[in-house]
Amino acid sequence: MPDHPGINTLPDDGPTMERVACKLCGADRTLELIREPITHVNWQGKGECRAVICEACGLVYLSPRLTREGYNDFYTHNFSAHANDPAVLAELIDRKYLPEKRRLLEKVLPMLDGPLPDDAEVLDIGCGYGELLGAYREKHGARLTGIELGEYAAKYATDRFGVDIVSMDINGPIRMDRNFDLIFLIAVIEHVLDPVEVFREIRENLKPDGQLVVLTPDLLDVTPLITSANLGRVIKPVHTYYFTKETLANTGIKAGLACTHISSAGKRLSTTQNDLLAIFKNTGEASSPLTPPKADEIKKRFFENIRHNECPWVRLPCKARFYLENPSVFFKVLKRRFRK
Ligand SMILES: [Zn+2]
Repeated sequence: MPDHPGINTLPDDGPTMERVACKLCGADRTLELIREPITHVNWQGKGECRAVICEACGLVYLSPRLTREGYNDFYTHNFSAHANDPAVLAELIDRKYLPEKRRLLEKVLPMLDGPLPDDAEVLDIGCGYGELLGAYREKHGARLTGIELGEYAAKYATDRFGVDIVSMDINGPIRMDRNFDLIFLIAVIEHVLDPVEVFREIRENLKPDGQLVVLTPDLLDVTPLITSANLGRVIKPVHTYYFTKETLANTGIKAGLACTHISSAGKRLSTTQNDLLAIFKNTGEASSPLTPPKADEIKKRFFENIRHNECPWVRLPCKARFYLENPSVFFKVLKRRFRK
């Protein structure tokens, strides 16, 4: 992936760390959002994460962060898989992943322009076990393709859901043998090294008027479970970017896409933050960018959200409601308490 000017021109921070300029606008004037100790075991970078806000465009990102080689090494050797036991994993896919992807599609597909044809080309970037494409196939015809680096996940996606898998690092050029009517990018864009470049590569792989669905955690909408005591669950080394509505829309727009929808997705996929949902279309003309809040306003809203969660009168009812809506999380927490 070609880097914007700015990357690596700032002083490095240790052998595997680099400071980065803003990938959305190229500026390198930033306001520090937070420094958070890293809790992930086997992390080979510095012991704390530093998230900064671009003063010019509001994009929030880690700097310093691991170099590309450092991240590839980390994901290959140290980022533990969800479950090593195939039976546990299969159960998890049926009980959790597949139902949540069905719900997501029920919400998102009616928001797209036009019904897609039965021979639509559909791609899921970072498809994992292929359950999103599997859920898509339950209701609609399509040719399904996934991009996935994990070998076990890729084989599972092919064997169970009939997904054609392409193995590729999406921080590099995305070269496919055909273009797509619909591309999904679910819980991926927050992990990449240059989100504008990733969106540009995706645009190259969309058919004219092809659509892109993006889901990513909302920096300004943490769940009631997050307080200053466990902020390491939000600000963490694997999330290189932290989007707001404006910066997510503007990142796609910068890559030449039209943003046809941006909102809070409502139902969350993670227990730490609610998701943002963006839909982009390859119309050949980018939309006008949205005006982002100022950096200090973003910082203020982020910490207001945390303080709100720490107020006991707010925290207890919010937490109770959260657990009622997410009983599986409640039982997981309960189990953990009992084990202690
Ligand atoms: Zn910027």
